[in-house]
Amino acid sequence: MGTLSEVEISALPTGRYESVLTPERAEEFRRERERARGVFEGRIVWSVNSTAKGGGVAEMLRSLLSYARGADVDARWLVVGGNPDFFAITKRIHNHLHDFEGDGGELGPEEHRKYEAALVSDCDELCGMVDPRDIVILHDPQTAGLIPRLKELGVPVVWRCHVGIDHPGELTRNAWRFLSGYVRQADAYVFSRQSFAWEGLDPARIVLIAPSIDAFSPKNSDMDETSARAILLAAGLVGGGEAPHDPAFFRQDGSTAMIEHRAEVFETQPAHVTDRVVLQVSRWDHLKDPLGVILGFAEHVSPHSDAHLIYAGPAVESVSDDPEGRAVFEDAIRAWRGLPEDQRARVHLAALPMTDGDENAAMVNALQRHAYTVVQKSIAEGFGLTVAEAMWKAKPVVASRIGGIQDQIEDGRTGLLLDDPRDLAEYGKRVLELLRHEKRASEIGTAAQERIRDEYLGTRSLVQYIRLLARLLEAN
Ligand code: UDP
Repeated sequence: MGTLSEVEISALPTGRYESVLTPERAEEFRRERERARGVFEGRIVWSVNSTAKGGGVAEMLRSLLSYARGADVDARWLVVGGNPDFFAITKRIHNHLHDFEGDGGELGPEEHRKYEAALVSDCDELCGMVDPRDIVILHDPQTAGLIPRLKELGVPVVWRCHVGIDHPGELTRNAWRFLSGYVRQADAYVFSRQSFAWEGLDPARIVLIAPSIDAFSPKNSDMDETSARAILLAAGLVGGGEAPHDPAFFRQDGSTAMIEHRAEVFETQPAHVTDRVVLQVSRWDHLKDPLGVILGFAEHVSPHSDAHLIYAGPAVESVSDDPEGRAVFEDAIRAWRGLPEDQRARVHLAALPMTDGDENAAMVNALQRHAYTVVQKSIAEGFGLTVAEAMWKAKPVVASRIGGIQDQIEDGRTGLLLDDPRDLAEYGKRVLELLRHEKRASEIGTAAQERIRDEYLGTRSLVQYIRLLARLLEAN
């Protein structure tokens, strides 16, 4: 029995981007959109990954595929089923790719057997659906095992790796070894930046495409401060004020809805709606360093300022390909409980409801807009969509000098970079700099927004994918 599932994608109008792009970018997008009509006619562009919600990949796929459909491309999205063994192995691969031990288990012949066995039925089903005229984009380690059979069908296959590390270590190379027998067979390998491209792959097939955000998604669409407050009050993420109006938000399809669910927040009492907020939004993952964010704030920021920290992540049962989420969440709660009372009162751990993806996105949007400054103190990061999201909202961001964050933030101009993400004193110092110098913080925020407009909106990714896929189809 196959476990592959198809995710419904609605078509979104590409023309709306005209209002936010620079004239040069708008013209480039118009040209490539026209080209896509001819190139993809009569073909399906399949994307396959391992989760339809939670995390950056699902977030980005949803919007890019919707705009592709809006440009008359028959784009479809499939999700592999997997099983607990499979996800334990792929989480281990993910950790190893970041040169991080994870659960300490092996990646040997037994893991190969389990990994491949879990993909067999999905692979059968997929091969039955795909026509040789189509093109398939497979995302991340969970789908690499599908490459060999698809290549036997003669379909052009792109493998998109969203994970990367600046300085690979032994564990990283171990994960590459595990995957490279599959990956090498793809027609192109897409990485987010040059330093992420693996050793030993054919350089001619390596393509660089940085991730991007959708300016019109419920996560990033315009929202004024009163609407953000109304949402945060309704969700229980801040307190103490009268809701100025109904907690309304726009869904992906353009309709309006109201916030109906509340976040589960660990706190002594909610931050007051007028308090300045330092925010980190992340999945519950050690690589996002929740303990460092919490303890560093308590030790180095709260004694010298009146700000509150909100650390927000998804409700833990909801991200199906991340088995470690609950344990990390519980560690964070333990760390919070261990704080002295006055510091505990300024730290809020929020689990955002995930039952309604648009509602969750609206809460993140409201949090990012309401925040005074946004932090992304990750130990490892492929790109850091949360950084781009906050920058687009003109927020000054304090983030680790790692991965794609270094491409997004020019230190001191479009944000502040932390040279050593584990240095809690430096993290505290840089956050305090922004809290103390409001004018500078606001200038950095404005420059950050322009940086995203130039380089990191979804249209730039679409243009790059159209060019890549067109080239592969011509060569096939
Ligand atoms: N996110 C979310 N709700 C949450 C936590 C995270 O929508 O409760 C989103 C976040 O806004 C961002 C994505 O998940 O769009 C995380 O992407 P990022 O590249 O920052 O990290 P990843 O999770 O892919 O490692």
